[in-house]
Formats: sequence, structure tokens, C-alpha cells
Amino acid sequence: MAESYDVAIAGGGIGALTAAVHASRMGRSTIVVGGRAPGGLLLSIERIDGVPGFPEGIAGYELCPMLQEQAADDGADIRMADLEGLEPAGEAWRLQTSDGEVQARAVILATGARLRSLGVEGEERLQGRGVSHCASCDAPLMRDRTVGVVGGGDSALQEALTLADAVGEVIVLHRGDELTAQAAYREPVLTHPKITVRYGTVVEEILGEDAVSGVRTHDVASGDTRDLELGGLFIYVGLEPNSDYLRDLVELDDDGRIPTDANMQTELAGVFAAGIVRRGSLGQAAISAGEGAAAAKAAHRHLGGEAAGRASTPAAAAARGNGG
Ligand SMILES: Cc1cc2nc3c(=O)[nH]c(=O)nc-3n(C[C@H](O)[C@H](O)[C@H](O)COP(=O)(O)OP(=O)(O)OC[C@H]3O[C@@H](n4cnc5c(N)ncnc54)[C@H](O)[C@@H]3O)c2cc1C
Repeated sequence: MAESYDVAIAGGGIGALTAAVHASRMGRSTIVVGGRAPGGLLLSIERIDGVPGFPEGIAGYELCPMLQEQAADDGADIRMADLEGLEPAGEAWRLQTSDGEVQARAVILATGARLRSLGVEGEERLQGRGVSHCASCDAPLMRDRTVGVVGGGDSALQEALTLADAVGEVIVLHRGDELTAQAAYREPVLTHPKITVRYGTVVEEILGEDAVSGVRTHDVASGDTRDLELGGLFIYVGLEPNSDYLRDLVELDDDGRIPTDANMQTELAGVFAAGIVRRGSLGQAAISAGEGAAAAKAAHRHLGGEAAGRASTPAAAAARGNGG
């Protein structure tokens, strides 16, 4: 028989752990199915900006364990397992996880996203051999080298600044003709003596046999192809939501994010979504935390018997999953 909780939360990032704190503090028995990489995207960030209470920023390796400890201290049962599937079980939900089944009367999905890959030749082969998604982890291995950063948004420029502290030189390769990052990152990057930005530049191939030796680029304006020597390549070209486990149960948006109403309620009764896996979430840590707290509150109300808006019942969802 599956263990039974009031609230089951999927995810191990700031959204899920904030939801766990709030659900537990409202007296709900709470399990966190926290994934295999606790901490989420923030864990590897050297300096997280924009979190209230930390005007100088805070490192992911400091903040993430604090969040987890707080949720556990408030009473949440935290498991390092992946959510693999979800199905109705009467008026509750049964969650299939990589560590067995659990049952809960309310579910909060806060499984976040993963960094998108470029999808070019050489990327998979050279992953971990100079191709990286983690500046703070791999920068110390690339001292004095010239490295590339692909992207022009907040993540790319923030990580370019982290890299510039450790490596010889950083070249930002951006396909557009303007950086899309916020001014707080644009200005320091554009004035940094160790960082240059190449606009209108598309990475077509990552070069190297056993380790990255460079990239082949396409110049958007001239159409020219050029090779550029690099000792490493850090890729920040957007995010892909972790929502595969929902399969046919919920209609996702075109990007794979989970639609909800303003109360974090999905189309399924008792199932809520929070953080960057949710459609319309704005991509900042503080926002994921706020949505986690709001989802916990909504789950609590749902368990108290208040109306659940436009959601369908677990039974109706089961019929839909069977083509009904
Ligand atoms: C390079 C970079 C720098 C950033 N810098 C900042 C910054 O300075 N300030 C800021 O506010 N924001 C920053 N962000 C954005 C920030 O990382 C996100 O807003 C935040 O991490 C979102 O939190 P989340 O909990 O919604 O999702 P995530 O952080 O993605 O957490 C999702 C969690 O769910 C887990 N998971 C995935 N699939 C499953 C599953 N099937 N079952 C169970 N668990 C699962 C994952 O392992 C992970 O632990 C940055 C992002 C990047 C990429």
C-alpha cells in the first residue's frame, strides 16, 4: 500500500522547497519528491542576485542547503527521487516515483527546467570535456584559457562574469544584434576588460577530438563560416521544462510548460504547479519561491474543501487519459 500524505510536492528547487515549508507550517503532512539533483538550477550559481535579504547576492551552494534544511525542520519528508507518473486514485493522486509509490490528496508540481542544448555536432561527444552548463564548477579547470559563452540573456552574461574572474578571456557568442539581458549584467559585461561580445554569430559545430578545441561559427550578416579557437564552451540558450512525467494527463503549452490559473491550479483538481515549469512564470528565484508559497496555500484550501475553480476531478482526468 502506498504511503499517504496530504500534500506531495515534486521538485527540489526553490519553488518546491518553499511550497514544502508553507504546506508543513499549515499542518499538512508533506512529502517532497525532490529529484536526483537537489537545489535545482540555483545550486551551481556562484552569486544569485535578486533574492530578498541578500543585497550582495548569495551562492547557490549556501542557499540551496538552507532551503532544504528549513523544509525538513518544518516537518516535510524529503526524498531524493524523481516523479515518473501521476494517476488518479479515488479523490487523491497516486505518484509513481523512482523510489516507489506515494499517495496524496493534493499535488504541487515544481519540477523546474533544464538548460537547453544547442543541438550541434560535437556537443554531446564533448559534454564534460570542455562543453559545460556550469561556470562555477568548470571555470577553475580552465584557468588562463579563452572560453566561449553562447547566449545573450541574463544567464549567459551572469555566467560570463563568473568565468571572467577565473579564466584568461571570455568571448560571448550571440546570434542576435543586441544583448537581451537586464542592464545590471549588460553594463559590466560590455565594460569588462576580459570579455568581448560577438554579435550575429551562430555556433554551427563544436570542434575537438578528446576535448573542446574551438567552434565553427556562421556570421549572420556576411554568411561567412569561421573557426574560433577556444578551451571551453558554456551554453546558456534557454530552458526546457521538466514536465515529461505528465504525458497525456495535462495539456501543456507549446513549450511544455504547465498551464494554471492565477491560484496555481492546473486543470486537474488538487494538482497545482509552481515555478519555472509553470506557464507564465517569470524565471526568477524569488518568483518561483512566491509561487511555491501560493501553491501551498491553494493546496491547503483545496484540502479544506473550498471550491477548486475550473479544475476537473481525478475521475474525469482518468476518463480523459483513457480517451474518454
Ligand atoms: C545560469 C543561471 C543563472 C541564474 N541566476 C539567477 C539569479 O541570479 N537570480 C535569480 O533570481 N534567478 C536566477 N536564475 C533563475 C533561477 O535558477 C530559477 O528562477 C529558479 O531556479 C527556478 O526555481 P524552480 O524551483 O522553479 O526550478 P528549478 O531550480 O529548475 O528546480 C527544479 C527541481 O526539480 C527537480 N526535478 C526535475 N524533474 C523532476 C522530477 N521528474 N521529479 C522530481 N524532481 C524533479 C530538479 O532536479 C530540480 O531540483 C538563473 C538561472 C540560470 C540557468
